[in-house]
Amino acid sequence: MTTHTLVVGGGISGLSVAWALLQRGHRVTVLERGQAGDESSWAGGGILSPLLPWEYAEPVSALALRSMAAYPGWVAAIEAASGLDAEYWRCGMLALEVAMPEQALAWCAAHAMAAKRELPAGLRTLSPTLPLQGEGGNRVWLPGVAQVRNPRLVAALRAAVERLGGAIREQCPVIGVLAQGPRVTTVQTAAESFAADSVVLATGAWSGLGLAGLAAMPQIRPIRGQMLLFRLEPGALDTILYRNGRYLIPRRDGHLLVGSTLEDAGFDKATDDAARRRLHEDAAEFLPQLSRLQPVQHWAGLRPGSPDNIPVIDRHTDFDNVFVDTGHFRYGVTMAPASAELLADLMEGKAPVLDPAPYRWQAALQRNWTLER
Ligand SMILES: Cc1cc2nc3c(=O)[nH]c(=O)nc-3n(C[C@H](O)[C@H](O)[C@H](O)COP(=O)(O)OP(=O)(O)OC[C@H]3O[C@@H](n4cnc5c(N)ncnc54)[C@H](O)[C@@H]3O)c2cc1C
Repeated sequence: MTTHTLVVGGGISGLSVAWALLQRGHRVTVLERGQAGDESSWAGGGILSPLLPWEYAEPVSALALRSMAAYPGWVAAIEAASGLDAEYWRCGMLALEVAMPEQALAWCAAHAMAAKRELPAGLRTLSPTLPLQGEGGNRVWLPGVAQVRNPRLVAALRAAVERLGGAIREQCPVIGVLAQGPRVTTVQTAAESFAADSVVLATGAWSGLGLAGLAAMPQIRPIRGQMLLFRLEPGALDTILYRNGRYLIPRRDGHLLVGSTLEDAGFDKATDDAARRRLHEDAAEFLPQLSRLQPVQHWAGLRPGSPDNIPVIDRHTDFDNVFVDTGHFRYGVTMAPASAELLADLMEGKAPVLDPAPYRWQAALQRNWTLER
């Protein structure tokens, strides 16, 4: 019998679970409060790696590295189904002023992640004041790091889900559920009710808010990130740059993203001049030409923040047929394929490739919240 799953939330987490379940023969309906992919999944940068991968807990690395390996094939399948280009680009990432570069290189070697001390070719436009030269440069070049243009990936994923027969219902805020014993039978929106065999909650930064009849994941909270966008000539920069919490992401068409802030400011998506100035000044320290340009766009998004950046991918604590895929914090685009695979395995009772223990609901409750860099 084909099972019908309702996925609540149409960001990259919800859409990638929908895509995984459809490929396994499930029937899927995504219920999205606004427009699919318009929240954090639109606002992010699309770097497909933790920024300094050696600084994270092993559960982050395990999920990220499995996803990073899967990404080329995963994107290719989505592009083939949708006919849309997600702009996957293995452009590499250069991290500057790395605190302990030898340890970073050793971590990369132990995790089969390509890493070098040499500079990539073609960085002539960088500021001469940057600490790039000589052995003292403390830099690590990660040539295998890729990016996607995340709004385009989400558009492709959305179209692929529909191509495989998934339904996406927008402007459809879920307000609560009805249950019989240990199972949810009905999901209620403001306008109508949906029957379901199973439910996936992928509500991003809003996962910490309860729905009527369904406990919230108390450890997830919104962490605002502001970004700037500049327009340069194509080819002005062809690798991601990172230094002291700031990064520059070049797109192939010359657009350049500068990010980002980490702000514990509730559900407020406002931008402010102080952050714009800080981001702009920091970006001009990488590329002096940016000091003469004005950003063409400035926005903020709400990351689904979680303790230690470890997401919750598990059965809901209260019901047998409700599952969660949330709390990916800074790396939800990176972690999407492996998170969806893990959740789909758990839903189908299959032994997952990754150890599911660190991503359990209870494991998240035992962690303490600190806002990392
Ligand atoms: C500035 C910034 C930079 C980032 N850069 C990167 C990066 O370079 N690489 C990377 O991997 N990640 C990055 N991220 C993080 C990444 O964007 C997120 O981790 C990821 O998008 C989370 O996806 P999601 O689907 O869980 O959440 P979202 O995209 O926020 O989707 C959740 C969806 O649920 C919907 N929803 C909520 N409540 C309800 C309800 N009751 N009923 C129906 N729908 C509901 C929302 O409307 C929303 O569309 C960045 C994020 C930001 C903000």
